[in-house]
Amino acid sequence: MPLPSMRVGDVEVEGLSDGLLKTSLDFVLGMERAQAESLVGGTQSGSLYIPVNNFLIRRGGKVILIDAGAGNTMQPTLGKLPENLRAAGIEPAAVSHIVMTHLHPDHANGLVDDAGEPHYPNAELVIHETEAEFWMRADVANDEDRVKKNRARTAINVKPYLDRIRRVRDGEEFAGFTPVVAPGHTPGHTCWLLAAGGSGFMAFGDVVHLSAVQISHPDAALTYDLDKDLAIRSRKRILDMAASERFAIAGAHVNAPGFGYVVRKGTSFAFEPAG
Ligand SMILES: [Zn+2]
Repeated sequence: MPLPSMRVGDVEVEGLSDGLLKTSLDFVLGMERAQAESLVGGTQSGSLYIPVNNFLIRRGGKVILIDAGAGNTMQPTLGKLPENLRAAGIEPAAVSHIVMTHLHPDHANGLVDDAGEPHYPNAELVIHETEAEFWMRADVANDEDRVKKNRARTAINVKPYLDRIRRVRDGEEFAGFTPVVAPGHTPGHTCWLLAAGGSGFMAFGDVVHLSAVQISHPDAALTYDLDKDLAIRSRKRILDMAASERFAIAGAHVNAPGFGYVVRKGTSFAFEPAG
């Protein structure tokens, strides 16, 4: 599934689909079901399909991928990123860097194939130090089961990349990308802001999961959030920043085309798709 590209200053941001993630409004917190249904335009027998978008930037000899998709471990409708890269004329082996917004399955399981071999054999992983530390540390007894489970999976995902992980700190820059930590969904969930010839672009990861719901109603959270109250605060801060500074955003689960601008609407926000 080809996604459009977006020109931001002197940078071309190419959208690449990993497929569709089947989810449900059962996971929405803090909003009546009927309201959520009407915002998303109805469900298919209770199921809702949200996109898993990835983005590619070629700059200064680097081929930079934002997140790695879900691989084929989650659902049959996912794991399409490597073939979509090839269809776009990019061999996965040519990817030099993968900038991670966070280490959840739909963003990181696609780092490796079924045998645990890397899909991107020449890529260095770029991860905020807080996110890397949280998912790559040993479990302690009172950790939630979902945390332990994702830690075990993270060990598989990062194993072939262990000698090429760049842990970025706050304020540090990598290839023009500056991390803006937006914690809550995960402890080190990171939005990556790219300065591009006077314009700005932010890959904002999972600041919203249901773009039809959470941009206009940022108080609605999802059960996927490890700390939903912190995730709500982060979402409002990032949406406010995107509207004030008018940089383009690319969201991992923002409905097609995935790119666009956040604008103020009343006391809340709306999304203006690019193009
Ligand atoms: Zn996600």
